[in-house]
Amino acid sequence: MTDSSDQPDFDTLAVRAGRMQSDFQEHAEALFLTSSFTYKSAAEAARKFANQEPGFLYSRFTNPTVTMFQQRLAALEGAQDCIATATGMAAIAATVFGLLKQGDHMVSSRSVFGTVVPLFDQIAARLGIETTWVDGSDLDAWRAAMRPNTRLLFCEMPSNPLNEYVDVDAVAAIAHERDALLAVDNCLLTPALFRPLAHGADLVIHSATKYLDGQGRVLAGAVCGATSLIEPIYMYVRTAGSSLSPFNAWVCLKGMETLRLRMEAQSGKTLELARRLEQKWLKTGVLRRVWYGGLESHPQHALAKRLAPMQGAVLAFELSGGQEAAWRVIDACKMISITANLGDTKTTITHPATTTHARLSAAERAAAGISDGLVRVAVGLESVDDIERDLARTLGR
Ligand SMILES: *Cc1c(COP(=O)(O)O)cnc(C)c1O
Repeated sequence: MTDSSDQPDFDTLAVRAGRMQSDFQEHAEALFLTSSFTYKSAAEAARKFANQEPGFLYSRFTNPTVTMFQQRLAALEGAQDCIATATGMAAIAATVFGLLKQGDHMVSSRSVFGTVVPLFDQIAARLGIETTWVDGSDLDAWRAAMRPNTRLLFCEMPSNPLNEYVDVDAVAAIAHERDALLAVDNCLLTPALFRPLAHGADLVIHSATKYLDGQGRVLAGAVCGATSLIEPIYMYVRTAGSSLSPFNAWVCLKGMETLRLRMEAQSGKTLELARRLEQKWLKTGVLRRVWYGGLESHPQHALAKRLAPMQGAVLAFELSGGQEAAWRVIDACKMISITANLGDTKTTITHPATTTHARLSAAERAAAGISDGLVRVAVGLESVDDIERDLARTLGR
């Protein structure tokens, strides 16, 4: 990604943006493990608490390591500002509760991270914030769901695990016609492959737990956007206490330095694996379908390619033999980790119908396309040959 301005390129920002040095002039970003900060006098403390003087007060408000993380992520997303949160869910909750009030309405794509559904339908609803769920790929559905009190549109793309894409430019236009905001959960593509703000979105949400850390070590989240929007979200976070820990910020700050390298490598491996699965196992009838935005067979392949140069590292395939065949493939894996997490350098495998999507009813799962034979693979950095060999142990039988 190159900018015509003086703004450094993505690769440069990834390792240098947001860097702050203490008086020791350390080279690497320091981890400030301190809950509070001291003042030279009572008067200095009073000035800082009154916001008359910049500085750090208490790590629930902000902390230098967390600030470095926020500034680096804002730079990568091309955002004016960023607020970090303890987890990705905390980022989504802070967006809703920092910006909306009782009587407001949201429209959300149905294909979102599972925990978003109870957050919107139970907790937000209890506080008088109602959500209408739509098929994210259907622009008429977004339009039809708009009401005079609609304040926020929310989507994730591509969706996990079926790789459904949302035409972000078009949905942003629908939001802005009615003075509503569009928030995009950019967890799966990351700013290395897609920058929602450049496509009209107002806010970008991250579960930094996934690719920003990139190595499955910590939980973290963030919201990026204009300062006027981030300010009320920050007020919520520092008051409700869903702030990011300095240690987790430091881990993600270092993770982001290799973000583009990992995303490109992992996306490349995912495409290669998706192609091999399709070529070898569709015609034998073992697989019914392979779901990956980078495949020409994906119904939204053209949109996926228009929005992002590569399609990320999550694919899914459906086995003709249903749950029994899906579990057999998973249980035969000797290398791939059986876990519901994704965004790791180690490849992971999961059976969505009985794990990530188990809380949905059978009818809801069917509507969402989560069949019993569906298996999700989040591809890491191992060789494609080794990943394929592990997956294929029972496919030939
Ligand atoms: C994991 C995930 C979340 C939630 O993030 P946590 O850090 O687990 O709270 C939100 N959105 C997407 C797309 C995710 O994959």
